[in-house]
Amino acid sequence: MKVNPSPLLVVSVVFVVSLCWLPTAAESSEKVKCEALSLEHAVPELDLDNLAVTQQEFIGATDAAIAHCVISGEIDRRVGIDGQQYAIGFRFRLPVDDWNGRLYMEGGGGTNGKIKDPLALLAEGFATIGTDGGHDNTRNYDESAGGIFAFGRDPQARRDFAYNAYDLVVKLGKYAIQGFYGSPPQYSYFEGCSEGGREALLMAQKFPQHFDGIVSGAPAIRLPLGPVAGLYTNRLFSELAVRSGLLLPDGSPAIGMTYSDSDLMLVRESILEACDALDGLEDGIVDDLASCDTPRVAAQLSTIKCSVGKNNSCLTEDQLITLKKAFAGPKDSEGSPVYSSWPWDAGVSGLNGESHLQDWRKSWLGSASKIANDGAKLKYAGAVAAIYTTPPNPISTDSTLSYSLNYDLDGVIESMHATTDLFPESVSDLYITDQTNLRLFVRGGGKLMMFHGASDSVISMNETVDWYTSMVSDTSAPVEFSQLYLVPGMGHCRGGPGMDRFKMLQPLMQWVEKGVEPSHIVAETSTPGFFGVETRSRKLCPFPEQSRYRGHGDINHEASFECFSPN
Ligand code: CA
Repeated sequence: MKVNPSPLLVVSVVFVVSLCWLPTAAESSEKVKCEALSLEHAVPELDLDNLAVTQQEFIGATDAAIAHCVISGEIDRRVGIDGQQYAIGFRFRLPVDDWNGRLYMEGGGGTNGKIKDPLALLAEGFATIGTDGGHDNTRNYDESAGGIFAFGRDPQARRDFAYNAYDLVVKLGKYAIQGFYGSPPQYSYFEGCSEGGREALLMAQKFPQHFDGIVSGAPAIRLPLGPVAGLYTNRLFSELAVRSGLLLPDGSPAIGMTYSDSDLMLVRESILEACDALDGLEDGIVDDLASCDTPRVAAQLSTIKCSVGKNNSCLTEDQLITLKKAFAGPKDSEGSPVYSSWPWDAGVSGLNGESHLQDWRKSWLGSASKIANDGAKLKYAGAVAAIYTTPPNPISTDSTLSYSLNYDLDGVIESMHATTDLFPESVSDLYITDQTNLRLFVRGGGKLMMFHGASDSVISMNETVDWYTSMVSDTSAPVEFSQLYLVPGMGHCRGGPGMDRFKMLQPLMQWVEKGVEPSHIVAETSTPGFFGVETRSRKLCPFPEQSRYRGHGDINHEASFECFSPN
């Protein structure tokens, strides 16, 4: 039965609500100021094709946010050559009273398509800006053309995702800040991981004037090659599954079953046996990653080879050979590497109580499911087809396995360098973000902090180490301006049996604004109990320095460690 509220109750409710919403005098003037801000002149000044503001309103202080002005909208709303409606989406949040004078932008993940909204930073007083990279994962989703990767059919959407969206949105964001506060941001910061880590490096390389401080985590420096390397492992593990008779109910190879969780624990234990003590302390962490090379690990792996049938305490010769091939990285038909090798690190597995960590396996293998293949690299085969080859040849979301089994590596690489009339920039030109001369960024006073998990199975840490080493050499900067932190045990951006909880932004701000270069970063594990203790902390040290035990004190506390230069 529906009960109608009494008129008296309705009046009371309206009265109470009105009281709650009554703005203070200060809020009222900020509301007027927010709504009066016009971005109209940005169109000619910033040479924008067009601009549509879809939301511009004052948000009063709540438990979740400080009082701020939010402005959302789209740049260059248009119809792509694939008939889809595209635009560069943006959102700015500008604190009214509590602005700390800084701008903060967070990069996207995956293939972007969603605006990041760092409310925690807003709460600290940052003006935050964000973009979706020129396509929308919901609006532009097309199951028959790779799902969220379907935007690769449109050349301008490719361009926007590569670089254009971030440049325009930073310019427009700074324009809005100038208009709202009457002054530009005192300091501007960019932070991102994975694709966002690539966007971070893009800023340092191509738009060095935009940011004073940049944090780049696990950057997809050679963005298309991570998924291409995934095609290689997808096929390698599929072939192993077929040879081992591991099939899903539909008859397809069961990639996730090729290595059980306990198999990966054996690999982890072998790596620890070979490399844990190299840093002087057996603590389940390989700090001397540089010395943990393939010959050393391969020798140890050979001791767990099954002498007869497969059981839980050994790996078959086929499993071991396939694993070593996968870690070595893909090669073209002439034997030249097309992507980095992968570091041998103990984060391939781990046991937290009764459960095995899944951070490493979820990319290459997926879960040990008997029902479906769910590895992330399999999904990203669709990105290779739609975005990272020219011309695009999108596949349906359920065709990624057959694509992985039938690709021609040489052909894929060739197609990354190809152009057509409709696609005048190659995939390589658009997405390989590996310029190593950052002199303009240095000249502007910029500081760059990077990090990468050694057990990242999405993007190889070795990619970052190689680029960083070349960059330091090629930039030949007269001042210290960059740091790289390698994180043993950590997976892609976070997770894994390592110290994956740390903050780079605060030390970066100290460096940019006070000139204090960080000597190390304190990090904790986010997997309590993993090391048999409630928590464990470590110093992360700037590459090529490594964390070393002082020889006395609690091995679970960072104070017992120091940064050590191996050379
Ligand atoms: Ca160790």
